[in-house]
Amino acid sequence: MPWEPIRKPAEVRAHTNLGDYDQTRRRFSWSAARETMSGLGGGALNIAYEAVDRHPAGRTALRWVRQDGVVREFSYGELSRQSNRFAHLLRALGVRRGDRVYTLLGRVPELYVAVLGAFKAGCVVSPLFSAFGPEPVRQRLRLGEAAVLVTSPQLYDRKVARVRDSVPSLRHVLLTGDGDRPGTIALGPALAGAAPEFEIERTRPGDPALLHFTSGTTGTPKGAIHVHEAVVAHHVTAAYALDLRGEDVFWCTADPGWVTGMSYGVIAPLTHGATLVSDEGEFDARRWYSVLAGQGVTVWYTAPTALRMLMRHDPGLAKEYDLAALRFVASVGEPLNPEAVVWGQEALGLPVHDNWWQTETGAIMISNFAGEEIRPGSMGRPLPGVEAALLKQGEGGRAEVAGGQVTELRGGGCQGELALRPGWPSMFRGYWHDPERYEKAFAGGWYLTGDVARRDEDGYYWFVGRADDVIKSAGHLVGPFEVESALMAHPAVAEAGVIGRPDPVAGELVKAFVSLHEGFSPSEDLRAELLTFGRRALGAVAPKEIEFDQHLPHTRSGKVMRRLLKARELGLPEGDLSTVEGSS
Ligand code: AMP
Repeated sequence: MPWEPIRKPAEVRAHTNLGDYDQTRRRFSWSAARETMSGLGGGALNIAYEAVDRHPAGRTALRWVRQDGVVREFSYGELSRQSNRFAHLLRALGVRRGDRVYTLLGRVPELYVAVLGAFKAGCVVSPLFSAFGPEPVRQRLRLGEAAVLVTSPQLYDRKVARVRDSVPSLRHVLLTGDGDRPGTIALGPALAGAAPEFEIERTRPGDPALLHFTSGTTGTPKGAIHVHEAVVAHHVTAAYALDLRGEDVFWCTADPGWVTGMSYGVIAPLTHGATLVSDEGEFDARRWYSVLAGQGVTVWYTAPTALRMLMRHDPGLAKEYDLAALRFVASVGEPLNPEAVVWGQEALGLPVHDNWWQTETGAIMISNFAGEEIRPGSMGRPLPGVEAALLKQGEGGRAEVAGGQVTELRGGGCQGELALRPGWPSMFRGYWHDPERYEKAFAGGWYLTGDVARRDEDGYYWFVGRADDVIKSAGHLVGPFEVESALMAHPAVAEAGVIGRPDPVAGELVKAFVSLHEGFSPSEDLRAELLTFGRRALGAVAPKEIEFDQHLPHTRSGKVMRRLLKARELGLPEGDLSTVEGSS
């Protein structure tokens, strides 16, 4: 094995939340874990109550680092009152339980107030990625039939104003600060005028709380529905996989528009009564080290792309900062190369603990743990309460399903599609308005993740790749279909095939192959125009590279063969091409 395992002394293990891995797994039950929640009596459960109102009011809930570096603190009491005001405001606007409240915000205090207030009012929260362009924003607002959108004046002008008319369900747009635009409500004054007490909606554990959009290979984005009892899994997994405790100062760098930014950037740390650090600024190595040092971060949850960006700097840079408070570092979202795990040890004094999960699982499922051996390059082992398996793959890479049954691969040293046994509380409960897609995600009593993994003799899982065509760029899941559709809206583009091209920092870069309509010919000008066109429509998920190709390969059914484009790009064998048009 090229990378030595990183062993932890027994006394370290004794002081972790997890304790002995095997023993905790054996003893664990989700029904006992549910007891860690306070509940609202009579079986009612609401995420916001568990996250905010049950904690001592004077404790610091949020430490917000503003763009200009000024730090503002919010106590649990303040967060409780502000989210109460927001819930009142929703009621006053006629927003009902179950209505969808969207956020399109960076890391600003209004985000936490809106999300928690919407939970309190029994609404379903749908966070959007603020770097999306107008097209992904419009599409997601429409798909989830947004009733309310909370955003900033700047984001409204750039991404929402021109698409608003095509979202008929959208009744109210609330703008942070005093921003006034026709047809919108200024959130600052509206909150100030609302009462600070609110009787939290008595939501049931199985009531929808969150709608997270994620991308598949084909069709529109999928809206994964999560329910209030997901909070049990947020809480427990933060304790076990992130070793989080009430006294911690916790920083999750994920964007609040993605599932990590919600499950661990908002909910989980608050359920523990910890202090959440939120930095409004974008990535900058010095800024990040000064947040870690200046805020006394004890537990840090970040992503491989960010770590790789830090690794590009002189390792001495980290040493300029006092990181003595930091006691645990974890990473998620894309493969974490072993170099990054080990770099953590040198630069931060701590190895990086990789963990794995996805939008549909709502919480961490597989992890390297604080007290357990790390195998650099491995995602770790399943959490207590999580049963994982590898299923025999069929044609196309997905698990082979015959007569509704699948074949589980047993023992170590095998590779297959990663599957999970349904039953954990944060499992998605549906795709919004798409029961058929939901049903297809399960077979033989397993949830099929779409990832391919390998398991070693000791039960550690190793990521191999995706079994489908979705792209992971800088930790963001990008649906090729969405990018292809946006490019095809350009008059020159006849067809597009979009793949992820390996990149040493971002993991993958979005690359598009396009064929042109008659009357158009490839040129550098047209390439630049298409790149700009893509960026304007899609924002951060737009293609970074465009290649002209008048002979895009097709399947017999007429679909562009992304698999083949990718194989050619990588110089790999083209594989089984029996379904490619023209081959016989
Ligand atoms: P998302 O639903 O956007 O959170 O993306 C989930 C996908 O990210 C997974 O299905 C994996 O393909 C990938 N992913 C997440 N965590 C890891 C990890 N630790 N190692 C490798 N891939 C990961």
